[in-house]
Parts: sequence; C-alpha cells; structure tokens
Amino acid sequence: HCPKELFKVFGEQGLLGIFVSPEFGGAGLGLTERAIMLEEVARHSSGFAIALMTHDLAAAAIYNFGTEAQKKQWLPKLCSGELIGGLSVTEPTGGSDLGNQATTIEKNEAGYLMNGRKVFITNSHIADLNIWTGTSGVNEKGRKMLSALIIPPGTPGLSAGRKENKLGLRGSVTGDTIAKDVQCGPDDLLGKEGAGAAIALHTIGHFGRSGISAFSVGILRGSVEEAVKFSKERIIYGKPLAKLAEMQALIAENQIEYEAAAAMLYNATAIYDRGEDATPRIAAVKYFSTEAAIRATRRTMDLMGGYGVMNEYPIGRFLRDALANVPSGGTSQIMRIIVAGNVLK
Ligand SMILES: Cc1cc2nc3c(=O)[nH]c(=O)nc-3n(C[C@H](O)[C@H](O)[C@H](O)COP(=O)(O)OP(=O)(O)OC[C@H]3O[C@@H](n4cnc5c(N)ncnc54)[C@H](O)[C@@H]3O)c2cc1C
Repeated sequence: HCPKELFKVFGEQGLLGIFVSPEFGGAGLGLTERAIMLEEVARHSSGFAIALMTHDLAAAAIYNFGTEAQKKQWLPKLCSGELIGGLSVTEPTGGSDLGNQATTIEKNEAGYLMNGRKVFITNSHIADLNIWTGTSGVNEKGRKMLSALIIPPGTPGLSAGRKENKLGLRGSVTGDTIAKDVQCGPDDLLGKEGAGAAIALHTIGHFGRSGISAFSVGILRGSVEEAVKFSKERIIYGKPLAKLAEMQALIAENQIEYEAAAAMLYNATAIYDRGEDATPRIAAVKYFSTEAAIRATRRTMDLMGGYGVMNEYPIGRFLRDALANVPSGGTSQIMRIIVAGNVLK
C-alpha cells in the first residue's frame, strides 16, 4: 500500500523537489540534501521512499530540461504535493536496452501523438503527471531517436494497467502505464526533439540512482541499529548476545559497509552539486550500496537467530526491499558496465 496522502505532508515540509529553486516552489537545496532526506525515510520504509524518489524524477526532468513556462506550470504543484509525478521509460523489451523503445511519438498538426506501453513504473496508479519517452524517428545512422513528453494530468488515452505484486518496496505501487492515442500539445515536448535518451539518462543516472543508493544506505543503517538493539536485549548464556565476538564481527561488518556506502554516496552527490557530471560515481555507489544492503540485512538476520525470520521484526522487510532495489534504476551488471566504461575511456 502506498500512503498517497503523505505526499502533501512531505510537500508542506519542503521535502519534495528539494533541489528545485525557490522561485519554482522548491527548497533550493541539492542532490545531497535530497539523499539525506531519502536515507531517513528509507531507514524505516524504502517502499515509500521509492514513491517519493520517483515523484522527484518528474520534477528533476522538468527542472533540468523544461522551458521557463513548463517550470512555472508544473514545478510548484509537484513541490507542494498537489500533483504526484512519475517517469515512464522502461518497456517490455527491457529496461537496460533503453534506446529500443516501441512507444511511438509522432509529430502531427496538434503537437505529438503517442502510443505505447511501459512496465515496472513506480507511481503507475497514483501519478497525476507523467513524463514519457518514446521513439520519434531515426537519426542519420539509422538508430532510433527518443523524445520526451510531459503528459498533463487528465490527458485522454493515458491509463494505468497491470499492477505488480512485488517482493519488496511494497510501500509503493509499481505497474504498467499505457498510452493509447495520447495527444499532447507542442508545448508538452520536454527538451528538444530527439533529446529523450539524454533526459532519461541524466535524470535516472543522477536523481534515480542516487535516490536508490540513499535507500540502501538507510537500510544499511537500519541493519546496524536493529543488530545493536537486538544483541543488547537478547540474553543467552546468561549475558547479552552483544558480548559474543562472532556477533560483534557481524555488527562491525555492517557498520563498515554502512560507512563506506554513505561516504561514497555523499561524495558522489557533492560532485553533482558542484556542477559536474557524476553518472559513473553514482553508478559505483548504486552498485556497492544495493549489494551491501543485501549482505547487511542477511548478517542482522543471522545475528537474530530464529527471530530474524519473524515478521514482527522489520529486518525481513529490509532484506526484501534491499533485493528489490537492485534492478530499480538499472541492474548491477549495467552499473558495472558504466563504471568500467568510465575507467577504460
Ligand atoms: C521496483 C522497481 C521500480 C521501477 N520503477 C521504474 C520507473 O519508475 N520507471 C521506469 O521507467 N522503470 C522503472 N523500473 C524498471 C527498471 O529500470 C528496470 O527493471 C531495469 O532497468 C532493468 O530492466 P529489465 O527489468 O527490463 O531487465 P533487462 O534489461 O531485461 O535485464 C535482464 C538481465 O540482463 C542483464 N543485462 C542487460 N543488458 C546487459 C548488458 N549489456 N550486459 C550484461 N548484462 C546485461 C541485466 O543486468 C539483467 O541481469 C523499476 C523497476 C523496479 C524493480
């Protein structure tokens, strides 16, 4: 269940579109402050954190690539939580193969006509305003060119389809979004024609993956804190579990991976905030933090013995969330390809 009503509460606190400048309704802060906020939310619920994070992807795409008029029209409503946002990129043909989109965006007299289906879209059933990408022609090399459209709330032909039943991140809704003869106006084009891939890659590469890394840092911290609490309270052999060297080793490994992931994350977001491209750095932290969060939740479960698999404790949910974070925003294999590509260039 996604507690949709919380968007307005986060908006009132200035926590939506935290990186948007105040003239468009944001807090005027950066990717770093956004990651701090998402880490705090994910310490308790990565599921709701991904709903907030994805909402911000619509705001980030408009903020970084929109016209002045688009920013004025949409950002204040996204920052207040009056509108919920979503970003529809992934298709049944595969999220990794971003350039191969079957969705079509055709230019016509009224603007742009769009048809297609997207899968695994966060906020699919609750988003008011969606950003879509689709194929809008081929370039001189014969490769598909993508464009991006802002789909205003209530546009006829846009609907939500199948709702997924996920292993983790269950505090968010994920599913299909479907466009059937969706007619957008000429002013709904985001960026230039053919800029869709660059918009998606910049937005997911910075705002998406740093967000998922922040959830993973939150889960890592949660794994440490839950292990510390349990090991101090649980008495075996007449003394707290925390006195056993084997248990201390598990806690130490969790703490070390938490500190490493947090340091990588906040270093990468600081690089972006000072105006540099941080795609490879963020890919590295996304890979490390999502995989480390799985290891850490497992260690805490081990430390808890049988209690670790009882659902009255949050650690099982943390593990399911940690697993679901891995493919979101790009798989571990794709993160390694980005990191290697940057090192080898
Ligand atoms: C919880 C959740 C929320 C999501 N939210 C959104 C959203 O809001 N918007 C959105 O657009 N998408 C969203 N996604 C989709 C996500 O971005 C994709 O799942 C992801 O990019 C992977 O795509 P895929 O699932 O189609 O896997 P595929 O691309 O089919 O990959 C299958 C396997 O092939 C591997 N692979 C692919 N290419 C290569 C290669 N070149 N070399 C080596 N191995 C390769 C992958 O690593 C993976 O192991 C979400 C996904 C999840 C799980």
